[in-house]
This record gives sequence, C-alpha cells and structure tokens, in this order.
Amino acid sequence: MKVTGDWLSHPGTQKLCAALTDAGFRALFVGGCVRNALLDEPVGDVDLATDATPENVTNIAETAGFKVIPTGIDHGTVTVVVEGIPHEVTTFRRDVETDGRRAVVAFSTRIEEDAHRRDLTMNALYADAEGTVIDPLGGLADTLARRVRFVGDAETRIREDYLRILRFFRFHACYGDPEGGLDPEGLAACAALSAGLETISHERIGAEIRKLLAAPDPAPAVAAMTQAGVLAKALPGADPKALAPLVHLENARPPHWLRRLAVLGGEGLDDALRLSRSESRDLTALRQAIGGTDTPAALGWTLGKDRGTDAILARAAIMEQPLPEGWETEVTRGAKAQFPITAADLMPALEGEALGAKMKALQTKWLQSGLILSRDELLKS
Ligand code: ATP
Ligand code: MG
Repeated sequence: MKVTGDWLSHPGTQKLCAALTDAGFRALFVGGCVRNALLDEPVGDVDLATDATPENVTNIAETAGFKVIPTGIDHGTVTVVVEGIPHEVTTFRRDVETDGRRAVVAFSTRIEEDAHRRDLTMNALYADAEGTVIDPLGGLADTLARRVRFVGDAETRIREDYLRILRFFRFHACYGDPEGGLDPEGLAACAALSAGLETISHERIGAEIRKLLAAPDPAPAVAAMTQAGVLAKALPGADPKALAPLVHLENARPPHWLRRLAVLGGEGLDDALRLSRSESRDLTALRQAIGGTDTPAALGWTLGKDRGTDAILARAAIMEQPLPEGWETEVTRGAKAQFPITAADLMPALEGEALGAKMKALQTKWLQSGLILSRDELLKS
C-alpha cells in the first residue's frame, strides 16, 4: 500500500527525508498526513517520526541549510522548515510514566514502541519517503474501513491520558464510518472513565471540542457522547437536541464550530473551553440573537453576514422552525446597509447620555422599519 500527494512529493520534504536517511536514520511520515492521504482527505500538517535524537535532527538539518525551530525539544520535537514547508520532526518515544494528564517520555529507536504510545490505530501509521505504508500495529485495515479504535486496551489507554476520550469522539466525527457507529469497546471505556476528563486542562479540552464541532457532521458523535455521559463532563449543561437539526439546516455550508457550540449551549463556556475574548463575544451575540426576535436584515446589520447567517440557522434549529423565506438575501442586505444617522445630526441639541439614548432609539426604529426609513424620516420622527 502506498500513499501519494503533493505534500509527500514536495521537493523540500523529499530533501529533508534524504538528509535524514543519508545520515543513517529513518525518516517516516506519521499520524494525520498518512491517515488523511489514505482516506482521501486533505492533508494539513506534515509530521515525521525518526530514530534520530533531536540533537541529531538539528545538526543534520542545519548542515543541509534548513531552518530549525526547537518547538518542543523536551518532548523530542523540532520543526524543520524546508523551502517554506514546516515539518514537525519527532524522535520515536515510549512512555516511562503517565498520570492521566501528561506523560514522561524517553526517546526510542524502535518504531513499535513509538506506535504503541499513540492513541488510535488510524493515528499509528507511518510511510517512508516513497509513500510505502508501514503498519506496525495493524492499523491500516481499521483506517481503510474508517474504524476508530484505541491502540491496545481502551481503558488502559484512556487512563494514561483522559483527553483520549474526546479524541475518540473527535476522530469518529471527522473520519469514522457514519454507518458503522462507534467501536463498542472504546465507547464503553469512555463511558466508564468519563470522570477522568475533570482532570484535563481546559485548554486541551477546548482544542478538541473546537475540532470536534468543526467536523462536517458532529451530531452522531455528540449524541454518543451524551449517552456515554461524556458531554456533561466536557460541556456541563450542554443540550445536544438542536445540533442535528442545525447540521441539516446548514445544508453543507462550511462547518463553523462556534455556530454549533451556540446551539449546544452550556454553563461557563468561556472557562470550560478557554474561549478567547472575540470568541466569547461572538458566542454571547449568537446566544442573544437566538433568544431574540431580530429580523434577518437586522441581524445582518448588527452581526455582519457570517455571524448573522449563524444566528438565523441556530435560531431556527433551537426553535424547531423553518428558515424564514428569503433570509439569505435579507442578511446580506442588512450587512451592507448603513444606518443613515450620525451623532452630528443630533448635536448640539443633544449631548452625552441623552444623545446616546436618542441614537439607540432611532436605531431601533430604523431596524424595525426593515432598515428602510431615511435620514429625514428618522429625524422627523
Ligand atoms: P490533526 O492535526 O488533523 O488534528 P493529527 O492526527 O495530526 O490530526 P495531532 O493532534 O496533531 O493529530 O497529533 C499527531 C499525532 O500524535 C496523532 O496522529 C497521534 O498519533 C499522536 N497523538 C496526539 N495526541 C495524542 C494523545 N493524546 N495520545 C496519544 N497519541 C496522541
Ligand atoms: Mg497534526
């Protein structure tokens, strides 16, 4: 079995592989790039595994004239940039100690050890510079069948790192066979150990939830998470009911994780997912829009085209209502509209608080008119 792709044949990538192998080391593609190439999914980052130590990788790469960034040298990772392409090169590792949250690792020269510490069989595949797949654990068949399974015993693997619970659902949502359902052993282990998620940092949980909710259709995985008691741990107070209707209403629009999160809801999401200030602002605006009665045009004006679109879709999903007729044109019209009044129109007659209040009142009037009333009509009102 061979994988191909521009990412693999890129001259810069091939030069890096050649530099490592010429020095007597292995240079193997690993993880997402191999998995996605096998599944005909777009390849993002190029990750390499090697038996060279990070010091060796650094020396070899610098001698070849490549740029080296010590991104995670303690964990064995350096980033090597060749012809503009970054490659994360990680030395084979084995776990020395795990506590459910982080691992103490030692470098290894054995690919089997490196494969055994990975989470899922579809993430434990390698390929050499020619694209020939190396499958130390028999993960190839799972991958081609889109079966998401833990490497080895599911409970043991989860106890090493409870984040793997969320990764199990995330990878199912992104790459699993939607017809096949979730692996029963993995699902049972996630359900039994869901309390372990409480020990995982909110940054890591947030990163996984973002990726899960950005899957084309996360609804079946989220439904399984609910059943397994995992959703309540990751997103306390979230309600999955409107997610499948939302995905249906989206009608294959590009997935947007925040729109999905807005219909799931939950308590203390800012902290639970470590939302950035702008994410938090967008989420609050969406939640308000869902509960409000603003027209599509008004939402387009207040939130802009994209967030306005999110708000209309999310509201229809939550309220179990059809999308309003002509809503897309209306959101676009609102997004382009200009409120015809400026503060200068009301000054000097009004100032300070009174000015602010009048501006707000005129704005409401204008929005209620369908963004139609002119400057003169508003000033006369
Ligand atoms: P993507 O980048 O699209 O999310 P990926 O497979 O590259 O997919 P990463 O999170 O970047 O996922 O991790 C790279 C590889 O590292 C994975 O394929 C997996 O082999 C391993 N890995 C990552 N996180 C864990 C973990 N928590 N436990 C075990 N192995 C992991
Ligand atoms: Mg990756």
